[in-house]
Amino acid sequence: SSPYFYRDSWVEVDLQSIKRNIEQLKRILPNGKKIFAVVKANAYGHGDIQVAEAALSSGVYGLAVAILDEAIKLRDAGIKAPILVMGWVRPEDVSVAIEKNIILTTFQKEWVKTAKQYVNGTLSLHVKVDTGMGRLGVRSKNELEELLMELNDKKFHIDGIFTHFATADEDNMTYYDKQKEKFNEFLNVLEQYVAHPLIVHSSNSAASIRFPNQMQDAVRFGISMYGLYPSPYVKEEKPIPLSPAFSLHSKLIHVKKLSKGESVSYGCTYTASEDEWVGTVPLGYADGWVRKFQGSTVLIHGKRMAIIGRICMDQFMVKLDNAYDIGTKVTLIGRQEEEEISVDEVADRLETINYEIPCQISYRVPRVYK
Ligand code: PLP
Repeated sequence: SSPYFYRDSWVEVDLQSIKRNIEQLKRILPNGKKIFAVVKANAYGHGDIQVAEAALSSGVYGLAVAILDEAIKLRDAGIKAPILVMGWVRPEDVSVAIEKNIILTTFQKEWVKTAKQYVNGTLSLHVKVDTGMGRLGVRSKNELEELLMELNDKKFHIDGIFTHFATADEDNMTYYDKQKEKFNEFLNVLEQYVAHPLIVHSSNSAASIRFPNQMQDAVRFGISMYGLYPSPYVKEEKPIPLSPAFSLHSKLIHVKKLSKGESVSYGCTYTASEDEWVGTVPLGYADGWVRKFQGSTVLIHGKRMAIIGRICMDQFMVKLDNAYDIGTKVTLIGRQEEEEISVDEVADRLETINYEIPCQISYRVPRVYK
Protein backbone atom coordinates (compact mmCIF):
# COMPACT_ATOMS: atom_id res chain seq x y z
CA SER A 1 0.00 0.00 0.00
CA SER A 2 3.06 2.27 0.07
CA PRO A 3 3.17 4.85 -2.72
CA TYR A 4 6.06 5.02 -5.15
CA PHE A 5 8.39 7.90 -4.40
CA TYR A 6 11.49 9.42 -5.91
CA ARG A 7 13.65 10.25 -2.95
CA ASP A 8 16.02 8.37 -0.70
CA SER A 9 14.52 9.36 2.65
CA TRP A 10 11.60 7.57 4.22
CA VAL A 11 9.79 6.71 7.43
CA GLU A 12 9.24 3.03 8.05
CA VAL A 13 6.07 2.23 10.00
CA ASP A 14 5.90 -1.26 11.43
CA LEU A 15 2.18 -2.06 11.58
CA GLN A 16 2.97 -5.39 13.26
CA SER A 17 4.40 -3.42 16.19
CA ILE A 18 1.18 -1.42 16.41
CA LYS A 19 -0.80 -4.65 16.50
CA ARG A 20 1.54 -6.12 19.12
CA ASN A 21 1.14 -3.05 21.34
CA ILE A 22 -2.65 -3.33 21.13
CA GLU A 23 -2.39 -7.03 22.01
CA GLN A 24 -0.27 -6.12 25.03
CA LEU A 25 -2.92 -3.68 26.23
CA LYS A 26 -5.72 -6.19 25.63
CA ARG A 27 -3.82 -8.74 27.66
CA ILE A 28 -4.01 -6.57 30.80
CA LEU A 29 -7.42 -4.93 30.29
CA PRO A 30 -10.40 -6.72 31.81
CA ASN A 31 -12.62 -8.45 29.24
CA GLY A 32 -15.17 -6.35 27.44
CA LYS A 33 -13.36 -3.02 27.72
CA LYS A 34 -13.40 -1.05 24.49
CA ILE A 35 -10.34 0.59 22.95
CA PHE A 36 -10.40 3.79 20.93
CA ALA A 37 -7.23 3.96 18.84
CA VAL A 38 -6.13 7.59 18.93
CA VAL A 39 -5.14 8.39 15.33
CA LYS A 40 -5.26 12.18 15.39
CA ALA A 41 -2.50 14.18 13.68
CA ASN A 42 -2.08 11.57 10.94
CA ALA A 43 -1.76 8.91 13.64
CA TYR A 44 0.97 10.84 15.44
CA GLY A 45 2.76 11.09 12.11
CA HIS A 46 2.55 7.35 11.34
CA GLY A 47 -0.23 7.53 8.72
CA ASP A 48 -3.87 7.65 9.81
CA ILE A 49 -5.59 5.26 7.40
CA GLN A 50 -2.93 2.56 7.62
CA VAL A 51 -2.74 2.72 11.42
CA ALA A 52 -6.54 2.83 11.74
CA GLU A 53 -6.91 -0.27 9.58
CA ALA A 54 -4.18 -2.13 11.49
CA ALA A 55 -5.73 -1.17 14.84
CA LEU A 56 -9.22 -2.18 13.73
CA SER A 57 -7.90 -5.53 12.52
CA SER A 58 -6.55 -5.99 16.06
CA GLY A 59 -10.02 -5.56 17.46
CA VAL A 60 -10.16 -1.97 18.66
CA TYR A 61 -13.71 -0.65 18.97
CA GLY A 62 -13.28 2.77 17.39
CA LEU A 63 -11.03 5.63 16.42
CA ALA A 64 -10.46 8.98 18.09
CA VAL A 65 -9.23 12.12 16.34
CA ALA A 66 -8.88 15.79 17.26
CA ILE A 67 -10.65 17.55 14.42
CA LEU A 68 -13.55 16.87 12.07
CA ASP A 69 -11.37 16.92 8.95
CA GLU A 70 -9.40 13.96 10.28
CA ALA A 71 -12.59 12.00 10.91
CA ILE A 72 -13.93 12.74 7.44
CA LYS A 73 -10.70 11.56 5.84
CA LEU A 74 -10.96 8.21 7.63
CA ARG A 75 -14.64 7.79 6.79
CA ASP A 76 -14.03 8.66 3.17
CA ALA A 77 -11.32 6.00 3.08
CA GLY A 78 -14.06 3.45 3.71
CA ILE A 79 -13.58 2.91 7.44
CA LYS A 80 -16.86 1.84 9.03
CA ALA A 81 -15.92 1.82 12.74
CA PRO A 82 -17.12 4.48 15.22
CA ILE A 83 -15.06 7.68 14.94
CA LEU A 84 -15.01 10.20 17.77
CA VAL A 85 -13.84 13.78 17.31
CA MET A 86 -12.46 14.75 20.73
CA GLY A 87 -11.97 18.43 19.96
CA TRP A 88 -14.38 21.31 19.32
CA VAL A 89 -16.25 21.41 16.05
CA ARG A 90 -18.12 24.46 14.73
CA PRO A 91 -21.82 23.95 15.48
CA GLU A 92 -22.73 24.92 11.91
CA ASP A 93 -20.69 21.92 10.68
CA VAL A 94 -22.66 19.24 12.51
CA SER A 95 -24.60 18.23 9.38
CA VAL A 96 -21.34 16.89 7.88
CA ALA A 97 -20.79 14.81 11.01
CA ILE A 98 -24.30 13.36 10.74
CA GLU A 99 -23.92 12.63 7.05
CA LYS A 100 -20.61 10.83 7.69
CA ASN A 101 -21.78 9.13 10.89
CA ILE A 102 -19.12 10.79 13.03
CA ILE A 103 -19.46 11.26 16.79
CA LEU A 104 -18.75 14.75 18.10
CA THR A 105 -17.80 16.09 21.52
CA THR A 106 -20.04 18.53 23.34
CA PHE A 107 -19.63 20.65 26.46
CA GLN A 108 -21.27 24.03 25.80
CA LYS A 109 -24.99 24.71 26.22
CA GLU A 110 -24.87 27.52 23.66
CA TRP A 111 -23.18 25.19 21.19
CA VAL A 112 -26.06 22.71 21.53
CA LYS A 113 -28.61 25.48 20.93
CA THR A 114 -26.85 26.56 17.74
CA ALA A 115 -26.11 23.02 16.56
CA LYS A 116 -29.82 22.15 16.90
CA GLN A 117 -30.62 24.38 13.95
CA TYR A 118 -28.23 22.43 11.75
CA VAL A 119 -29.16 18.91 12.84
CA ASN A 120 -31.03 17.03 10.19
CA GLY A 121 -31.40 13.53 11.66
CA THR A 122 -29.64 12.49 14.85
CA LEU A 123 -26.25 13.71 16.02
CA SER A 124 -24.24 11.33 18.20
CA LEU A 125 -22.30 13.00 20.96
CA HIS A 126 -19.88 12.34 23.79
CA VAL A 127 -20.13 14.79 26.65
CA LYS A 128 -16.77 16.17 27.81
CA VAL A 129 -16.20 17.07 31.41
CA ASP A 130 -13.21 19.02 32.70
CA THR A 131 -12.03 17.40 35.90
CA GLY A 132 -8.72 19.23 36.05
CA MET A 133 -7.08 19.31 32.63
CA GLY A 134 -8.37 22.87 32.19
CA ARG A 135 -8.74 22.50 28.44
CA LEU A 136 -12.23 21.45 27.31
CA GLY A 137 -15.35 20.33 29.15
CA VAL A 138 -18.06 21.36 31.57
CA ARG A 139 -16.56 22.33 34.88
CA SER A 140 -19.42 22.03 37.37
CA LYS A 141 -22.36 19.75 38.08
CA ASN A 142 -24.68 22.63 37.42
CA GLU A 143 -23.12 23.22 34.01
CA LEU A 144 -23.45 19.52 33.23
CA GLU A 145 -27.14 19.54 34.23
CA GLU A 146 -27.84 22.54 32.01
CA LEU A 147 -26.05 20.90 29.12
CA LEU A 148 -27.95 17.63 29.57
CA MET A 149 -31.27 19.48 29.66
CA GLU A 150 -30.39 21.21 26.42
CA LEU A 151 -29.42 17.84 24.91
CA ASN A 152 -32.78 16.35 25.85
CA ASP A 153 -34.01 16.39 22.27
CA LYS A 154 -34.55 13.68 19.63
CA LYS A 155 -31.95 15.41 17.51
CA PHE A 156 -29.21 14.28 19.88
CA HIS A 157 -28.02 10.89 21.00
CA ILE A 158 -25.64 10.88 23.95
CA ASP A 159 -23.36 7.97 23.16
CA GLY A 160 -20.68 8.62 25.77
CA ILE A 161 -19.09 10.80 28.42
CA PHE A 162 -15.40 11.39 29.02
CA THR A 163 -12.69 13.36 30.71
CA HIS A 164 -8.92 13.66 30.24
CA PHE A 165 -6.16 13.29 32.82
CA ALA A 166 -3.39 15.85 33.20
CA THR A 167 -0.92 13.82 35.25
CA ALA A 168 -1.61 10.11 34.66
CA ASP A 169 2.02 9.61 33.59
CA GLU A 170 3.53 10.96 36.80
CA ASP A 171 4.80 9.39 39.97
CA ASN A 172 2.58 11.40 42.31
CA MET A 173 -1.04 10.21 42.00
CA THR A 174 -2.73 12.92 44.09
CA TYR A 175 -3.99 15.03 41.20
CA TYR A 176 -4.95 11.97 39.14
CA ASP A 177 -6.99 10.61 42.06
CA LYS A 178 -8.72 13.97 42.47
CA GLN A 179 -9.67 13.98 38.80
CA LYS A 180 -11.07 10.44 39.10
CA GLU A 181 -13.13 11.45 42.11
CA LYS A 182 -14.48 14.50 40.32
CA PHE A 183 -15.35 12.41 37.27
CA ASN A 184 -17.35 10.03 39.48
CA GLU A 185 -19.30 12.98 40.85
CA PHE A 186 -20.17 14.02 37.30
CA LEU A 187 -21.22 10.45 36.49
CA ASN A 188 -23.63 10.50 39.45
CA VAL A 189 -25.29 13.59 37.99
CA LEU A 190 -25.45 12.04 34.56
CA GLU A 191 -27.27 8.97 35.90
CA GLN A 192 -30.19 11.18 36.87
CA TYR A 193 -30.60 12.51 33.34
CA VAL A 194 -29.63 9.70 30.98
CA ALA A 195 -31.32 6.34 31.29
CA HIS A 196 -29.68 4.45 28.42
CA PRO A 197 -26.21 2.89 28.74
CA LEU A 198 -23.40 4.97 27.40
CA ILE A 199 -19.65 4.67 26.94
CA VAL A 200 -17.75 6.12 29.89
CA HIS A 201 -14.05 6.75 29.29
CA SER A 202 -11.24 8.71 30.86
CA SER A 203 -7.93 7.01 30.25
CA ASN A 204 -5.07 7.79 27.93
CA SER A 205 -2.14 5.39 27.43
CA ALA A 206 -0.59 6.18 30.80
CA ALA A 207 -3.70 5.42 32.85
CA SER A 208 -4.67 2.38 30.76
CA ILE A 209 -1.34 0.61 30.96
CA ARG A 210 -0.67 1.51 34.58
CA PHE A 211 -4.11 0.96 36.05
CA PRO A 212 -5.96 -1.39 33.66
CA ASN A 213 -8.31 -2.52 36.41
CA GLN A 214 -9.60 0.99 37.05
CA MET A 215 -10.95 1.51 33.54
CA GLN A 216 -14.59 2.30 32.87
CA ASP A 217 -16.07 1.17 29.53
CA ALA A 218 -13.34 2.31 27.16
CA VAL A 219 -9.81 3.68 26.96
CA ARG A 220 -8.20 6.06 24.49
CA PHE A 221 -4.93 4.48 23.46
CA GLY A 222 -2.50 6.86 21.77
CA ILE A 223 1.24 7.09 22.32
CA SER A 224 1.73 3.54 23.60
CA MET A 225 -0.08 2.06 20.60
CA TYR A 226 2.86 3.50 18.66
CA GLY A 227 5.25 1.71 21.00
CA LEU A 228 6.34 4.65 23.14
CA TYR A 229 5.96 5.20 26.88
CA PRO A 230 4.04 8.35 27.87
CA SER A 231 6.82 9.62 30.13
CA PRO A 232 10.27 8.65 31.38
CA TYR A 233 8.58 7.66 34.65
CA VAL A 234 6.24 5.18 32.96
CA LYS A 235 9.12 3.96 30.81
CA GLU A 236 10.99 3.04 33.94
CA GLU A 237 7.90 1.45 35.47
CA LYS A 238 7.35 -0.46 32.16
CA PRO A 239 3.87 -1.82 32.92
CA ILE A 240 3.82 -3.63 29.56
CA PRO A 241 6.47 -4.27 26.91
CA LEU A 242 6.09 -2.02 23.85
CA SER A 243 7.51 -2.18 20.34
CA PRO A 244 8.26 1.16 18.63
CA ALA A 245 6.60 1.38 15.21
CA PHE A 246 8.41 4.43 13.81
CA SER A 247 11.85 4.60 12.24
CA LEU A 248 13.45 7.15 9.92
CA HIS A 249 16.00 6.36 7.24
CA SER A 250 17.87 7.90 4.37
CA LYS A 251 20.85 7.13 2.16
CA LEU A 252 24.18 8.77 1.42
CA ILE A 253 23.81 10.61 -1.87
CA HIS A 254 27.27 12.16 -2.01
CA VAL A 255 30.62 11.24 -0.45
CA LYS A 256 33.86 13.21 -0.63
CA LYS A 257 37.12 13.77 1.16
CA LEU A 258 37.61 17.16 2.80
CA SER A 259 41.13 18.45 3.24
CA LYS A 260 42.25 19.77 6.59
CA GLY A 261 40.96 23.35 7.02
CA GLU A 262 37.97 23.04 4.65
CA SER A 263 34.53 23.88 6.02
CA VAL A 264 31.01 22.49 5.81
CA SER A 265 27.60 24.16 5.38
CA TYR A 266 26.19 27.63 6.08
CA GLY A 267 28.25 29.80 8.37
CA CYS A 268 31.20 27.38 8.15
CA THR A 269 30.53 26.23 11.72
CA TYR A 270 32.51 23.04 11.07
CA THR A 271 36.05 22.92 9.78
CA ALA A 272 37.93 19.70 9.13
CA SER A 273 40.80 19.30 11.57
CA GLU A 274 42.39 16.71 9.31
CA ASP A 275 41.65 15.13 5.94
CA GLU A 276 38.31 13.41 6.45
CA TRP A 277 35.40 11.73 4.68
CA VAL A 278 32.10 13.57 4.63
CA GLY A 279 28.75 12.35 3.35
CA THR A 280 25.62 14.24 2.36
CA VAL A 281 22.21 13.01 3.53
CA PRO A 282 19.10 14.24 1.65
CA LEU A 283 16.95 15.24 4.60
CA GLY A 284 16.66 18.65 6.25
CA TYR A 285 14.59 20.96 8.36
CA ALA A 286 11.78 21.07 5.79
CA ASP A 287 11.44 17.35 6.51
CA GLY A 288 11.30 18.04 10.24
CA TRP A 289 14.96 17.21 10.80
CA VAL A 290 15.48 20.53 12.52
CA ARG A 291 18.68 22.55 12.92
CA LYS A 292 18.95 21.61 16.59
CA PHE A 293 20.14 18.17 15.46
CA GLN A 294 23.52 19.65 14.51
CA GLY A 295 26.07 17.73 16.56
CA SER A 296 23.87 14.66 17.12
CA THR A 297 24.49 11.30 15.46
CA VAL A 298 23.05 8.97 12.83
CA LEU A 299 23.74 5.29 12.22
CA ILE A 300 25.72 3.96 9.27
CA HIS A 301 26.70 0.28 9.19
CA GLY A 302 25.62 0.08 12.83
CA LYS A 303 28.01 2.84 13.92
CA ARG A 304 27.27 6.33 15.16
CA MET A 305 28.49 9.14 12.89
CA ALA A 306 28.26 12.84 13.80
CA ILE A 307 26.13 15.40 11.98
CA ILE A 308 28.53 18.24 11.15
CA GLY A 309 27.78 21.82 10.13
CA ARG A 310 24.38 23.45 10.00
CA ILE A 311 21.42 21.41 8.87
CA CYS A 312 19.99 22.83 5.64
CA MET A 313 16.39 22.84 4.39
CA ASP A 314 16.80 19.62 2.39
CA GLN A 315 20.16 18.13 3.36
CA PHE A 316 22.78 17.76 6.04
CA MET A 317 26.32 16.48 6.22
CA VAL A 318 27.81 13.73 8.30
CA LYS A 319 31.40 12.91 9.19
CA LEU A 320 32.30 9.42 7.99
CA ASP A 321 34.96 7.05 9.29
CA ASN A 322 35.39 5.63 5.80
CA ALA A 323 34.63 6.21 2.12
CA TYR A 324 31.16 4.67 2.02
CA ASP A 325 29.34 4.06 -1.25
CA ILE A 326 26.61 6.31 -2.47
CA GLY A 327 23.35 4.62 -1.53
CA THR A 328 24.61 3.45 1.87
CA LYS A 329 21.71 3.37 4.34
CA VAL A 330 21.61 6.05 7.04
CA THR A 331 19.31 5.54 10.02
CA LEU A 332 18.25 8.64 11.91
CA ILE A 333 15.73 6.94 14.19
CA GLY A 334 15.71 3.19 14.64
CA ARG A 335 18.08 0.26 14.81
CA GLN A 336 21.12 -0.79 12.80
CA GLU A 337 22.82 -3.96 13.94
CA GLU A 338 23.53 -3.55 17.68
CA GLU A 339 23.04 0.23 17.80
CA GLU A 340 19.75 2.05 18.22
CA ILE A 341 18.69 5.69 18.15
CA SER A 342 15.32 5.74 19.87
CA VAL A 343 12.55 8.32 19.50
CA ASP A 344 13.14 9.05 23.20
CA GLU A 345 16.82 9.84 22.59
CA VAL A 346 15.91 12.18 19.75
CA ALA A 347 13.25 13.85 21.91
CA ASP A 348 15.81 14.40 24.69
CA ARG A 349 18.12 16.03 22.18
CA LEU A 350 15.37 18.54 21.34
CA GLU A 351 14.40 18.92 25.00
CA THR A 352 10.89 17.78 24.21
CA ILE A 353 8.63 14.72 24.58
CA ASN A 354 8.60 11.66 22.32
CA TYR A 355 5.05 12.54 21.09
CA GLU A 356 6.47 15.51 19.20
CA ILE A 357 9.06 13.59 17.16
CA PRO A 358 6.99 11.46 14.74
CA CYS A 359 4.50 14.34 14.48
CA GLN A 360 7.23 16.70 13.38
CA ILE A 361 8.63 14.54 10.55
CA SER A 362 6.88 16.35 7.75
CA TYR A 363 4.52 15.35 4.95
CA ARG A 364 7.50 15.43 2.58
CA VAL A 365 8.93 12.20 3.98
CA PRO A 366 7.03 9.22 2.57
CA ARG A 367 5.72 6.63 5.03
CA VAL A 368 6.47 3.05 4.06
CA TYR A 369 4.56 0.22 5.74
CA LYS A 370 5.69 -3.22 6.72
N1 PLP B 1 -7.53 11.54 24.84
C1 PLP B 1 -7.39 12.83 24.54
C2 PLP B 1 -8.52 13.76 24.78
C3 PLP B 1 -6.19 13.30 23.99
O1 PLP B 1 -6.03 14.59 23.68
C4 PLP B 1 -5.13 12.36 23.76
C5 PLP B 1 -3.85 12.78 23.20
O2 PLP B 1 -3.21 13.70 23.62
C6 PLP B 1 -5.32 11.03 24.10
C7 PLP B 1 -6.53 10.65 24.63
C8 PLP B 1 -4.24 10.01 23.92
O3 PLP B 1 -3.23 10.18 24.84
P1 PLP B 1 -1.92 9.28 24.82
O4 PLP B 1 -1.29 9.52 23.50
O5 PLP B 1 -1.12 9.79 25.95
O6 PLP B 1 -2.38 7.88 24.98
